[in-house]
Amino acid sequence: MIDFLIIGGGIAGLSAGARLSEHGTVTVLEAEDALGYHASGRSAALFEEGYGPPSVVALNKASAEFFFTNDYLTPRGLMLVAKSDQADQFRKDLSELGMAEISVADALERVPVLNPETVAYTALSEGAYDIDTDRVLQDFARTIRANAGSVLTRQKVTRIRKDGNWLVEAAEVFQARTIVNAAGAWADEVARMAGIAPIGITPRRRSMARLPAPGGHDVKNWPMMLGAGETWYAKPDAGKLLVSPSEADPVEPHDAYADDMVLAEGLARYEEMVTSPVTRVETNWAGLRSFAPDGTLVLGPDPSDESFVWSAGQGGYGFQTAPAASRLVADLALGRAPELDAAMVSALTVSQLR
Ligand SMILES: Cc1cc2nc3c(=O)[nH]c(=O)nc-3n(C[C@H](O)[C@H](O)[C@H](O)COP(=O)(O)OP(=O)(O)OC[C@H]3O[C@@H](n4cnc5c(N)ncnc54)[C@H](O)[C@@H]3O)c2cc1C
Repeated sequence: MIDFLIIGGGIAGLSAGARLSEHGTVTVLEAEDALGYHASGRSAALFEEGYGPPSVVALNKASAEFFFTNDYLTPRGLMLVAKSDQADQFRKDLSELGMAEISVADALERVPVLNPETVAYTALSEGAYDIDTDRVLQDFARTIRANAGSVLTRQKVTRIRKDGNWLVEAAEVFQARTIVNAAGAWADEVARMAGIAPIGITPRRRSMARLPAPGGHDVKNWPMMLGAGETWYAKPDAGKLLVSPSEADPVEPHDAYADDMVLAEGLARYEEMVTSPVTRVETNWAGLRSFAPDGTLVLGPDPSDESFVWSAGQGGYGFQTAPAASRLVADLALGRAPELDAAMVSALTVSQLR
């Protein structure tokens, strides 16, 4: 009998599994051949403490120490970039993200391809970091195994029944006291299988293009650039530049791929702000950012059946919130008092949505 059966081998499932493996037996079931195949393998890997609604920011802040202590972060910086007709949006973003305005001339020193004819306002935050997401995923999986748990791939859950305990059918049948639903875009599907009311998760596609370094520049120390109103962003990645149109188009859960038209429009918005034209896209992809109706994570036991625990709605924040979110999932599943502020905790629970 398994104490905690986790459905989903992305960052949500592996981090929750690692926390819970210190308190009982854990098995993680992942449908695909590899861990992190969906959203968790396709992210921009950024940690920015001020990014997200208040309960997400609380989780970001509570996660920082874990990331720093384990050396998962590398300084990146975040630069906000706006045109002359985006003054209001620029001010709004600047205050939400707690950034400091800098002159366009100073911005050009950091990113020499910015176009001074189109870029009118710039701001900078040094509090943004690259997360070593592969290592985070693998380390959580290693913790589960070190605590005598199992992390199994090619185990797509197709049927869930309850007969005293949970009976979960995948490539094998598993019996568990508690289920943790960490199925990302498929979280409502898993809930329905278990006879639990869905919470209204909406998967939203976000595409990404990898470009050669613009103008042959060394981009290693460039900050991530964010178009005002999150209309595009660009981030250095292993000597190349990732550019995203920052779309949030609602879709059905599926193995996502980039939309060519959306990508082209996003690249045009980026291109307008730089002097180096996009000559070639080396590769592109997309992932699903899955949101609950209130835009925050949904964590902890379902009020209709406490042995069904949610870790869903990670949206665009699944990595940066994972250390604190997984601790909260474990606290709530184990009936322990959470470390996080009570108002924030209640904003993150299922009851909030019901
Ligand atoms: C383009 C992009 C950029 C992003 N940038 C950032 C960023 O900079 N910083 C940040 O913090 N976050 C970012 N995110 C968000 C982050 O990637 C997600 O919030 C996070 O990966 C979600 O993790 P998850 O484990 O919930 O979902 P997933 O990684 O999708 O994992 C869910 C898993 O459940 C499995 N599953 C589903 N159904 C079943 C079933 N029936 N049986 C077994 N397994 C099942 C799936 O196969 C999947 O592997 C970004 C996302 C995208 C797409």
